[in-house]
Amino acid sequence: MSLPKQVRIIEVSPRDGLQSEPRHLTTDQKVELINELSDCGFSQIEIGSFVSAEHIPQLADTEAVFEQINLSHTVDYSALICNQIGLDRAITCGIGHIALFTSASESFCQKNIQTSINGSLKTFKQIIQKAHDEQFIIRVYLSCAFDCPFEGTIKAQNVVPLVKYFYNLKCDEIVLADTTGRATPLAVQQLIELCRNSVPVEYIGVHFHDTYGMASANIFSALESGVQQIDSSIAGLGGCPFAPGASGNIATEDLLYMLHSMNIATGINLQKTVSIGNKVSAWLHRKNQSRISALMLH
Ligand code: MG
Repeated sequence: MSLPKQVRIIEVSPRDGLQSEPRHLTTDQKVELINELSDCGFSQIEIGSFVSAEHIPQLADTEAVFEQINLSHTVDYSALICNQIGLDRAITCGIGHIALFTSASESFCQKNIQTSINGSLKTFKQIIQKAHDEQFIIRVYLSCAFDCPFEGTIKAQNVVPLVKYFYNLKCDEIVLADTTGRATPLAVQQLIELCRNSVPVEYIGVHFHDTYGMASANIFSALESGVQQIDSSIAGLGGCPFAPGASGNIATEDLLYMLHSMNIATGINLQKTVSIGNKVSAWLHRKNQSRISALMLH
C-alpha cells in the first residue's frame, strides 16, 4: 500500500460552505474567515463565486471580499463561475483562479444549470479558451460523479470521457464530486483507476460529502489510488442548494486529523482550524459538524 507523503487541501467553506447556509455572513466576517484560513496554512481557498446574486445571495459580495482580504503570496484564491458574465467579473476582479462546474448526470445538469451535459461542454469550451487567454488557472467540478439525486448510480464509463474532455482543454484540476454523499470506497477506487488510464492522476481532485458517513473512507480510497488534492470545508459547512438531502462536505478538521495521524503533511495547523470552525459555526448559529472539534473541547 502506498500513500502520498503530502496532499493539498482545497478549503471550500467560504464558497461551497456558505452558499447553502440560510444565514448570511457579512463581508467583514468573510474577510476575517479567509484571512484566518490563510494564516493557519491553507494554500488554496475558494473564496466565493461570480454567479447571479438572485440564485446565491449569500455570495453576492465576492468582489468586495477579494478586494478586502490580505492577499498572501502563499495562497491560491479561486472563485466559482458558471458563464461568460462570471468570467468577466473574475477578470475585472483580478483573481487568478476560476472554478467551473458541470455534472456527470444529465438530469442534474438540466436541473442545476438548465442545459444538457453536451450543452454545458460547448459553453465551457469557449469560456475555457478565453480563460486561457487571460492566464487563469482552471478547476472543473464534475458534480454527481458517483451518484445523482435523480438518477441514482452514475456509471464510471460515463464520467471518464468528461474528465478526458477537460484534460484535453488543458484545465488544471478536474474534481470528482460526490454530490449526494452516496459514494463508497470501492466505487471511488474504480472510477479513479479508470480515469488514470486517460489522464495523469495529478489532475484529479476529489470532493466528498459526508451524508452517509463515507467521506473519510472515500478519501482514503482516493489517496490509495494516488489522488493528492482534496476538497474540504471547516466545520463541515456546505451541502448543495440544488441536491435534496445532501449534507455537508467532509469537515477539514476531521480530514486533517486523519491525514496528520497517517504522517501525510498538509502544512495546515489543526488547532487553529478548530478555532476558526467553532467561530464560523457560532456566526451561523449552526452546529459544528466536525467530530474532532467536539472531542477537542473536552
Ligand atoms: Mg460540496
